[in-house]
Amino acid sequence: MPDYNTHRVFNYLTFLVISVLLFKLQVVITDMKLFLALGVGFYIGTDFITPDLDIESKAIKRWGRLKVIWLPYKWLFKHGQSSHNILYGAVVRIMYFSIIILGLYYLLFRSLPPETMISSVYVFIFLIGIITANALHIILDVLF
Ligand SMILES: [Zn+2]
Repeated sequence: MPDYNTHRVFNYLTFLVISVLLFKLQVVITDMKLFLALGVGFYIGTDFITPDLDIESKAIKRWGRLKVIWLPYKWLFKHGQSSHNILYGAVVRIMYFSIIILGLYYLLFRSLPPETMISSVYVFIFLIGIITANALHIILDVLF
């Protein structure tokens, strides 16, 4: 299986090529804030919330002390099985992490005025970025 850096290079090159193609064709990338949300989600999905969080991988080490968040996930999911399902795996990771950060998000934004809330469109595009990055990881795993 490809290592962490191979996955990163593959993901970022694919993202770059597709972004340039879409830009040249003047498709989709009309709103830079949406593109930024997609890019941040893609980065998180490539470097932090990857299918390899179910093993002692470089991805899980990048979490530092916060890697304890993923311990129950590691115990629940065997490596290379459901975590490496192209759609279900990413959805489970996002749901798992969302439950944890939802409390923090609520505490953080509860005290701020409503206009500081992040629009659900950006959250959706951000999640698409994570799912796309995870899908590319799995495609590379299947190829090699
Ligand atoms: Zn993998």
